[in-house]
Amino acid sequence: MENENLAGNAQDKAFENRLRPKVFEDFPGQDRVKENLRIYITAAKRRGEPLDHILFSGPPGLGKTTLAGIVSAEMETEMKTTSGPALERPADLAGLLTGMKEGEVLFIDEIHRLSNVVEEYLYSAMEDWAIDVVMESGLYAKSIHLTIPRFTLIGATTREGLLTAPFRARFGILERLEYYPPEHLVSIIHRSAGILGVELEEEGALELATRCRGTPRIANRFLSRVRDVAEVKGDGRVTREIARQGLAMLGVDEGGLTDMDRRLLQTLYNHDGGPVGLKTLAVTVGETDDTLENVYEPYLIREGLISKTPQGRKLAPKGYEYLGRTPGQGGLF
Ligand code: ADP
Repeated sequence: MENENLAGNAQDKAFENRLRPKVFEDFPGQDRVKENLRIYITAAKRRGEPLDHILFSGPPGLGKTTLAGIVSAEMETEMKTTSGPALERPADLAGLLTGMKEGEVLFIDEIHRLSNVVEEYLYSAMEDWAIDVVMESGLYAKSIHLTIPRFTLIGATTREGLLTAPFRARFGILERLEYYPPEHLVSIIHRSAGILGVELEEEGALELATRCRGTPRIANRFLSRVRDVAEVKGDGRVTREIARQGLAMLGVDEGGLTDMDRRLLQTLYNHDGGPVGLKTLAVTVGETDDTLENVYEPYLIREGLISKTPQGRKLAPKGYEYLGRTPGQGGLF
């Protein structure tokens, strides 16, 4: 089995969609967020108005896209999906907006990656339900002011801090998703096992739940990998032992750390504990800086293994402990 790569690929998308809950009842965890959303949705429906624009923030794999789908279903409306990098020019956005129906949801993933021009173009659409469209070009170019249907924008971001203040201010609802505690992950894993037809023992579920970095996406991925182990090495049931074996084969340790995490920590150690710049780290461990920053680092920071300073990343005391070293031992060996 290959070592676990947390960045994922296109094949994972179909798998994820299969496991995506469609209603709040099937979405364990994030209780405060769900409670707030339920209230806003009920109120908007009572008034017969579209829902306020929503911004979901938090690390990847915690359910931002899933929640957007649930909100849209609860509002009994359709959702159109795009992403920050896909909207290159205002015209791309204009095309989408003019095709929307009253009350529909426009979901923009990675909204922090919108270009400035597209972001500013969104402002009047979000506030006044109007956009300026340039017809023809060159000498005969003229701009017309178009009214668009009142839609709900749902943005998702792993990097809320990168959003400009005027942009953030245009979202009426801002919700931050947190890492999940094991009990919610156990429910999520059981539900997924049911959909996939995997026989899963309680202790097997707990083993996966405590080692998936508090992240449903990773929990589901682990489940699908240990299922293979259960079928080949066991009788098909995911027991604690099978889960342990499967995770060991993926290079995932007790704390949910992967080879990549260990390479990151070791690189920092080799540089006297840092600080090391993100780009240098990325080149050394062979990952993109984007993936390091968005996928690996947030959990390492939360667990107190590394820290982020203006000069770069540093190995924190718990990081030294993890490597079985003490600060100042220094050197490569
Ligand atoms: P994000 O958009 O935050 O990166 P997604 O919404 O795409 O995350 O979720 C990733 C995967 O994890 C999907 O398969 C989704 O169904 C699953 N998932 C996330 N949160 C939950 C949850 N609370 N309950 C059940 N499944 C979840």
